[in-house]
Amino acid sequence: MSNLACRVAALILSVCCTQNIAAAAEPAGSAPTVAGGWGFEFNGADFANNPGDDFFRYGNGAWHDRAVIPSDRSSIGVDTALSIVGEARIREILERGENGIGPALRADAVKIGAFYAAFMDEARAEALDVEPIAPLLQMIRAAATREEVAGLMGRRSFFSSVFGLGIGADDKAPDKYAVSVRQGGLGLNRDYYITPRLAEKKAAYLAYITQLLAMIGWDAPEQSAAAILDFETAIAEVSWSNAERRDPERTYNPMSVAALSEAAPFPWRRLLASADLDGLDRVVVAENTAIPKIAAVYARTPLDTLKAWQAFHLADGAAPYLSKRFVAANFGFHSRTMSGVAEQPERWKRAVATVNGAMGQAIGRVYVARYFSPQAKAQIDDLVAQLRIALAARIERLAWMSPATKLKASEKLAHLNVKIAYPDKWRDYAALDVRSDDLVADVQAARKFAWLRQVNRLNSPVDRDEWYLNPQTVNASYNANLNEMTFPAGILQPPFFDPAADAAVNYGSIGAVIGHEMIHGFDDEGRKYDGMGVLTSWWTDADATEFNARAAVLGRQFDTYEPFPGFRLKGDLTMGENIADLGGALVALDAYHNSLGNKPAPVRDGLTGDQRFFLGYAQSWRHKSTDDSIRQLIVSNPHAPANYRVNGVVRNIDAWYEAFNVNPSDKLFLAPENRARIW
Ligand SMILES: [Zn+2]
Repeated sequence: MSNLACRVAALILSVCCTQNIAAAAEPAGSAPTVAGGWGFEFNGADFANNPGDDFFRYGNGAWHDRAVIPSDRSSIGVDTALSIVGEARIREILERGENGIGPALRADAVKIGAFYAAFMDEARAEALDVEPIAPLLQMIRAAATREEVAGLMGRRSFFSSVFGLGIGADDKAPDKYAVSVRQGGLGLNRDYYITPRLAEKKAAYLAYITQLLAMIGWDAPEQSAAAILDFETAIAEVSWSNAERRDPERTYNPMSVAALSEAAPFPWRRLLASADLDGLDRVVVAENTAIPKIAAVYARTPLDTLKAWQAFHLADGAAPYLSKRFVAANFGFHSRTMSGVAEQPERWKRAVATVNGAMGQAIGRVYVARYFSPQAKAQIDDLVAQLRIALAARIERLAWMSPATKLKASEKLAHLNVKIAYPDKWRDYAALDVRSDDLVADVQAARKFAWLRQVNRLNSPVDRDEWYLNPQTVNASYNANLNEMTFPAGILQPPFFDPAADAAVNYGSIGAVIGHEMIHGFDDEGRKYDGMGVLTSWWTDADATEFNARAAVLGRQFDTYEPFPGFRLKGDLTMGENIADLGGALVALDAYHNSLGNKPAPVRDGLTGDQRFFLGYAQSWRHKSTDDSIRQLIVSNPHAPANYRVNGVVRNIDAWYEAFNVNPSDKLFLAPENRARIW
């Protein structure tokens, strides 16, 4: 099952990060407008800066200097601003409940209203304190063997597991679902445990574990916390890095549960049974060399440590839904220490994020009826068609690829499916029970519902109509198993897409987003899947070798970028996103040129069409983050920070050099032979 490749990190649009705005009073149907006369906001640029030295700064410098990261978020940007407006809209939908909702949506509206009301009942959470998780802690205390601890791991409550279970399309037969088994057990990304320069965060994690154990009344919190950290460090030492986990061939290891038990002795049957997967006989093992080692760490760790570890993760997972002291402790570590967020978001924002996460499509259905104009759907359809034509022509022109591989690539492009704005078929929440007076029960019910929905369809054909992003999400994605791109209603707004804007700017922003998702089908990971979503080699060996050599040029460039001393970007981890950014911008630029017919682009405010295209591209990456969240991104996330997604891309595009007269003396200059040329 392939990863869902997205335009931006989930981290950037994190559900825990929110901001004060006055947009709650915004009139229905109005779209936020940040664009100027033709779509580029001049007062955000820094045209006094040399574009060849820092193009991100040239397009966005004044904006970046002026932008203030809200105290309850880790970043601000053009995407975040849309998310903030969306957050206020969702609040309005949730507070209204079923009032004014038509009969078709009423049942869902009652549930999302009840869930929201349960979250907003702070007095109840305060009165109960640790009480809602006391029965779960008791289950951990009662566990007398390692088998019994494993028997808690698959429960979709707040329990944690040393092995993650997932259900998704089978990479080699993507019309069927398969159960995957992945490495797990860690509270932080693997690198934090084993990298000396991250020791400060690891120490803060130890303090947090101790704090939570004390809060739930666990025995000997300090000694237990130290043992938990040792246990997780031992797991981290044998776990794969995020870059290694990006290789779909290495992570596709189907085997019987009996063979898995042989290779990695562990109470697998207990784990699977607790996840409602009794009788399962085949799993796809991801990190196949790490899993036996993690099983060995589990087998040699004292039972008391395993129980303390489970209790800590239970408390950590449930903390956002408990009393203030739990919420504050959880925020203090995960948001303040790890991401540099100054202040805890207001309760309603956390409520919006939770209900949106649990019942996103029920909210989305009301959201699009209210805030999405259907003509945007047709316009995006048309743009996608133009980008397809542009990419098909680029494939045809590639000098380095053999005709045989070109033919397969063209076939894959022809099969590429696209989903725009919102689903035709909405998720059915009938089986989810929600009550307005028990938040912890609601969160548990939502988790159970989401999991059982997948378990129950395990033997059905893969649902090709399913949406993995909510319509209100400000993001876009590519799914390799379905060979499809998704552009939710949330991103089809200015400054990404503005029907009133200059074509050059729209091609540079939403065009590049569409191109980015399209190229994910042809990045170092996506290229390993064919047009039907099957993980299979459709490349000649020579073409695959040449692709890798060309990708390595880009990887080496990104390896040299160092936003903070000791924190270099990882060219391998960010490879897929960087290939998608570069290829996406090139395809969008070609599509823009095609759209002009054979006429020269008009000049506006003294700027050529290509200059406006690149400025539109830069503007779509206006984003500013706390230093801590950038460090966190670099350590674990496949996306590079925003400024590198501008500068690291344009310096590989010949047309950018011409558009801004970039010279060898400029900092971003790369000699033509050193520019990455892939798609
Ligand atoms: Zn992406």
